[in-house]
Amino acid sequence: PPALTLVPTPIGNLEDITLRAIRVLGEADLVLAEDTRVSGRLLQHLGLKKPLLSYHLHNEHQQVPRLLERLEKGEKMALVSDAGTPGISDPGFLLVRECLARGLAVECLPGPTALVPALLKSGFGAERFTFEGFLPVKKGRQTRLRELAPEPRTMIFYESPHRLVKTLGQLAEVFGPQRPASVSRELTKLFEETVTGTLASLATEFGARAAIKGEIVLVVAGNPAPPAREGRAGRYDHEEAEDEDD
Ligand code: SAM
Repeated sequence: PPALTLVPTPIGNLEDITLRAIRVLGEADLVLAEDTRVSGRLLQHLGLKKPLLSYHLHNEHQQVPRLLERLEKGEKMALVSDAGTPGISDPGFLLVRECLARGLAVECLPGPTALVPALLKSGFGAERFTFEGFLPVKKGRQTRLRELAPEPRTMIFYESPHRLVKTLGQLAEVFGPQRPASVSRELTKLFEETVTGTLASLATEFGARAAIKGEIVLVVAGNPAPPAREGRAGRYDHEEAEDEDD
C-alpha cells in the first residue's frame, strides 16, 4: 500500500464519501487533517477511531520533515482537508512533492471536489477549462483579471460569499458585462442553487440579496473570439460555427 493517500471527503452531502475512502481511512495509522475537529466528526460519523494530526497551511512547513521521517519508517497516512479533495485550494501539495522526491508512494483517491459539479452545471464548454482557485484578494487581482480576459477556455473560480458581488462587478468591467457566467452555491447541500446568466445579470441578482451565505463556485465562459481555427469550445453565441477540418 502507498505511504500517503490523499482522501477526498464530502463537500456537503455525507453520502458522497466513497467506499474506498472509508476503507483507506480505516486502514491508516494516522489521519492528517486540516482541522482535527472537523475530520474527527467525520470519522466519528463513519464509526472510525483514528489518531489525528493537524496538518494545515500554517504548519505544513514544520510538519513535513517529521512526517517524512515517520512515513519512511513505514507508517501509513491518510491526508484529508475540511471538505473536498486535499491539495485543491487546500494543503497537500508540499507533502506530496516531498514524498515523491524521496521515492515514497503517493496515492490519490478520486472523489468530491466543488469545481467539477459547478463546471458541469454551468452548461459551458467542459472539453477544456482552467481552474483558477481563489483570485488574489488585493495585490495582483486586476493584473490576473486582465490576463484572463482573452482566455478561451471556461474558467472556474472559488470565491467567498461576501466578495461575490464585488468580484462579479470587477469581472464585468474587465471581461464585458455580457459574458456568460454561473454561480453555484452550497453544492450537494440542502439549499444548493446554481444561477446562470451574464456577469452583469448575476451582479444585479446577487447584489439585490440581503446577505449571501454559503460556499460559492463561480464559472465564467471563455472568451468567444478564439483564434480562427479553434473548435467550438468556448463559443456561447450559438452562431453556426462549422468545423474546418481541411
Ligand atoms: N478542497 C476543496 C475542493 O476540492 O473543492 C476546496 C477547498 S477551498 C478552501 C473552499 C472553497 O471551495 C469554497 O470557498 C468554495 O469556493 C468551494 N466549495 C467548497 N465546498 C463547496 C460547496 N459545497 N458548494 C460550493 N462551493 C464549495
